[in-house]
Amino acid sequence: MAEQNKTNRAPQNAQRNDKNNKKPRMSFTWVYVIIAIALGYLFFAGDEGFQGSNGASKNVTYTVFKQYVENGYANKIVANKDEGTVKMYVKPEHIRDVFKQGVDQAGKMPYVQADFPSADKLDEFVSLQQELGNFKGELSYKRSDNTFMQVFWNLFPLLLIIFVWMFIMRRMGSGGGGFGGMGGIFNVGRSRAQLVEKGGENESKVTFKDVAGQASAKQEVQEIVEFLKNPKKFTDLGGKIPKGALLVGPPGTGKTLLAKAVAGEADVPFFSMSGSDFVEMFVGVGASRVRDLFRQAKEKAPCIIFIDEIDAVGRARANGAMMGGNDERESTLNQLLTEMDGFGTNSGVIIMAATNRADILDKALLRAGRFDRQIHVDLPDLNERKAVFKVHLKPIKVDKSLDIDLLARQTPGFSGADIANVCNEAALIAARHGKQSVTKEDFIAAVDRIVGGLEKKTKVMTEEEKRTIALHEAGHATISWNLQYANPLIKVTIVPRGRALGAAWYLPEERQITTKEQMLDEMCATLGGRAAEELFTGHISSGAMNDLERVTKQAYGMIAYMGMSDALPNLCYYNQSEYQWQRPYSEATAQKIDDEVKRMIAEQYERAKALLLEKREGHAALADLLVEREVIYAEDVEKIFGKRPWVSRTEELLEKDLTPDPSPKGEGSPAEGAES
Ligand code: ADP
Ligand code: ZN
Repeated sequence: MAEQNKTNRAPQNAQRNDKNNKKPRMSFTWVYVIIAIALGYLFFAGDEGFQGSNGASKNVTYTVFKQYVENGYANKIVANKDEGTVKMYVKPEHIRDVFKQGVDQAGKMPYVQADFPSADKLDEFVSLQQELGNFKGELSYKRSDNTFMQVFWNLFPLLLIIFVWMFIMRRMGSGGGGFGGMGGIFNVGRSRAQLVEKGGENESKVTFKDVAGQASAKQEVQEIVEFLKNPKKFTDLGGKIPKGALLVGPPGTGKTLLAKAVAGEADVPFFSMSGSDFVEMFVGVGASRVRDLFRQAKEKAPCIIFIDEIDAVGRARANGAMMGGNDERESTLNQLLTEMDGFGTNSGVIIMAATNRADILDKALLRAGRFDRQIHVDLPDLNERKAVFKVHLKPIKVDKSLDIDLLARQTPGFSGADIANVCNEAALIAARHGKQSVTKEDFIAAVDRIVGGLEKKTKVMTEEEKRTIALHEAGHATISWNLQYANPLIKVTIVPRGRALGAAWYLPEERQITTKEQMLDEMCATLGGRAAEELFTGHISSGAMNDLERVTKQAYGMIAYMGMSDALPNLCYYNQSEYQWQRPYSEATAQKIDDEVKRMIAEQYERAKALLLEKREGHAALADLLVEREVIYAEDVEKIFGKRPWVSRTEELLEKDLTPDPSPKGEGSPAEGAES
């Protein structure tokens, strides 16, 4: 991903530099030079002015100074009370006596300097010498007259502030509107959106062809393309077009690419900005950038605004100041919400945003009329990886022996961006070895290198892990298929997705009430993953944590809130208020609840294990299929276990709706039923 982003953004920088060159620019080098000269002058001019260099000087003790005066060497005596020093300028005829050198070397006005004990003593001494005739001149007093220094120190804090301020502004400005230098100050509130448009400097024609895989996501954004191309068709019928679509998925899966492709397909301008660009340390800047972005977009309508990493601004607002909310981010978010409400549904501006965590977004962002549709962009499965490889291998001179299937199989858990990276890296490795074309070995080396680099960051799996995850997911699938009340299964994957390592998609039945049997069956299916791990690998793993959490919560709910256990029948200890630390039941009841929860979960776990043992061949076949294909659908499960004898209401709907395309669509959003 990084690789690609860099190339994508390069033209933008180039454009900015152009502008800088055209505009007369207040160069900062000059500011630095001026400041340096001023400082230098102040330091040198500080004490004695430049006359100080007019003659030799010498520091002596007060006694020696007195001696000199008594000897009649003094031409002029100047005392500085602030510093407590006295200077005696030496008569030309005595220069040799004092400095042991001639007038030529010692200069015109050489002096000796001494610290005097007190002004009174000095006065007294000089008056005496005057009376005695040793000193003919006057004793003059002088204040520290390094006014420059004083002015400088007075102004220093101010100068420092100006300096720091200019520095910050320059940094900020450098990201911004193109005036460079101090002009940046005035552009803080302007949006830094990158604009891609026809005939623009960074025109790039991305179409759906460039996005490999992601069939269901493409299908969903197709509607947006249609609208942008031909809005009249929709508005004539009184239809309302979504204002925003949220692309949800892990980094590097092609969310930006997809949004660009929508713009490319519809042939409209594309504004792209990252959520973090809105967030600045100055209050109000984010909000004004949002305003500016929407203003620009309205001018170019129809167009697409793409906000990457929207979670940077869209994170749920803290309820209560207790948490010390980020006011700036909140006001930016509020502005975004206002702008989204503010423009008409049919103004032709469509906002697409990307995030990998839809769950942390503020609910207000996800409401109808804003980002009300979520499009899931997941890590590619085996076949999709093959397709992505094909896209990125196009510009590369590959060896004929290269087997794309093998590459796809070697890269479980890779995102589209990782694959793009593999291709690029392989080409570099081949070039380094002076080869004519890129061979299989280069690709394997590239994969190794990237896996090495990625391991910590993303969920790249080993074969063994893949096998464990397949067993786990097959466990869920086996049980839910063979229990009457468990939710109907849509698909099972072992492609890591978000925080989950694998997932089974279910179509949640649309029911208003749920029976105890349904809940228990679901609980059993949820425990199926861990049960399968224990039975067939001999180890249990951390992969089931999510399942266990859900099961535990469910069991507590059933027992404490829904009165569904025999030991505590018909009791609901549900507590309305959110922050009530006091339990509405006794210690003894708490103990009972805990015991019941444990018993219920243990029972379902045993049930899951028994069922898995009974269906072990089917489970093994399912797991093998998963390892091989990474994603399997209801039909595959049906082939193994046979048709489910129970047909649910929603399954009937599904039957009609989805036979041609097994990917989940329609009323059952995949997210709802997904679980690890
Ligand atoms: P995201 O926005 O999801 O983080 P990007 O859209 O920036 O990811 O993807 C980065 C790069 O990865 C793209 O420019 C493209 O080269 C490559 N890529 C990602 N997904 C795909 C895909 N499905 N097909 C082709 N290339 C892809
Ligand atoms: Zn699981």
